[in-house]
Amino acid sequence: MNICGLGVSGSYLFRRLTDIGFSVNAFDVKRSDYYIPCGYATNERKIGEYCKRAGISFDDYIISRAENVIVAGDNFVEHTFKSSGLCTFDKNRFEHDLIKDLNVMKSKPDYNDGISLDCSGISRALLGQSPDDYCMSAIEYLSENAKHKSFYFKFYGKAMGYFWEFPMGNRYHVGAGGLDHSDNLRRLVPYQKILVTGRKIRLKPLFENIYKGNIAGTGEAIGCVSPITGEGIIPSLKSADLFIECARRYDDTPDLFEKYAVKIRREFGRYYGLHRMVKNLQEGKTLKVDNIRFARSALNEFREFGVDITAPAVLSHFIMPKRHN
Ligand SMILES: Cc1cc2nc3c(=O)[nH]c(=O)nc-3n(C[C@H](O)[C@H](O)[C@H](O)COP(=O)(O)OP(=O)(O)OC[C@H]3O[C@@H](n4cnc5c(N)ncnc54)[C@H](O)[C@@H]3O)c2cc1C
Repeated sequence: MNICGLGVSGSYLFRRLTDIGFSVNAFDVKRSDYYIPCGYATNERKIGEYCKRAGISFDDYIISRAENVIVAGDNFVEHTFKSSGLCTFDKNRFEHDLIKDLNVMKSKPDYNDGISLDCSGISRALLGQSPDDYCMSAIEYLSENAKHKSFYFKFYGKAMGYFWEFPMGNRYHVGAGGLDHSDNLRRLVPYQKILVTGRKIRLKPLFENIYKGNIAGTGEAIGCVSPITGEGIIPSLKSADLFIECARRYDDTPDLFEKYAVKIRREFGRYYGLHRMVKNLQEGKTLKVDNIRFARSALNEFREFGVDITAPAVLSHFIMPKRHN
């Protein structure tokens, strides 16, 4: 088997598939000192089980744990919620440690030889671009300062994106993601930057394009990212686990890929509705049946991420948005 891309899902797959007994060639284009563009926030109550299966302890990577989480929006007043596992962790070291004793190839393997996994995230390097793709731009600073000491999310009106401040020890990840890149940049002006990163983030399921020929995608390459919170770390690990389950069971490649695709659609099917809801809000279609149907599911995305959100006031953001400021 070949793995293209050693981010979250690729590193985890390389570790697990090798441990199970598959012969794996893996390759990534990034430099060894590359600082991954990501908030590094996850839910410690959920990621631990993946770490156990990969033979590492998540506690070794936690940087800051949230107690309270502030959620604000252009359409609603600020609320403080309890954390249900939200934390930041050392994602660079985590990915490095998953594969530290494995042999990473120095140049790309022959992706036509056997099964190849496209774990290249936003790039879709093997599967190729999808005509119906949907991404937002995101920029992030590693900064000495932030306006809030707690984990902080601020949602822009009309579902145009959000701004975040996540504690990272005595530093912060401060970032902005949205459709308008100059607006994202403007929001970061008051912050000092030790380091600047950024890339696009895929916020739409591409579950009609999960595999092609001998190639199957995992993680962000196929849109395993919450369209509401942008959470992609645990969804990518989950997609990798679903692939492993099928790889252990089915020898025939078309069968394996189809069973995997069915599992992905079942696990992440809600992303279709959540993505439609975001598009409706952006287009000013407020009281759509989809929005009402998926508003509760949108709140659930926060709970998945580790924020114990309860307020009906936040719910209204997803049903009746006001104009974007
Ligand atoms: C600014 C920002 C902030 C985010 N914050 C969070 C957060 O706080 N919490 C969260 O859960 N999610 C967050 N996400 C989303 C999350 O980072 C991703 O969804 C997740 O890392 C995707 O995992 P992956 O394994 O699919 O791909 P990635 O982790 O993106 O890995 C892809 C890998 O493929 C490699 N690659 C690319 N092209 C090629 C090629 N041609 N050949 C070989 N290798 C290649 C890349 O170098 C990279 O290592 C954020 C995303 C962005 C952009």
